[in-house]
Amino acid sequence: MSINDYADNLESVARYALGTSGAIEVCKQHPDVTISVGNLDAERHAYAIATQTLKRDGTMWMREDVMSAVKHELDMAADDGCPVCGG
Ligand SMILES: [Zn+2]
Repeated sequence: MSINDYADNLESVARYALGTSGAIEVCKQHPDVTISVGNLDAERHAYAIATQTLKRDGTMWMREDVMSAVKHELDMAADDGCPVCGG
């Protein structure tokens, strides 16, 4: 697996974890836009989901990479609704 695949997979797992825990929502009009809900419990839960998800994967994931991928997705998420449509 290439470095790029590794990064892409980390990103999707991070997004999946944040979406599943309810820490971020995706704009209904703009699937590329993620919105942070501001729920700290859900954010903590997302780290746990990401770690659990990757444990089921056969890849040798670095825990720090998983943590920083989740944090990165949170940083990328808008804080107050979709910046494009306000929804
Ligand atoms: Zn939108």
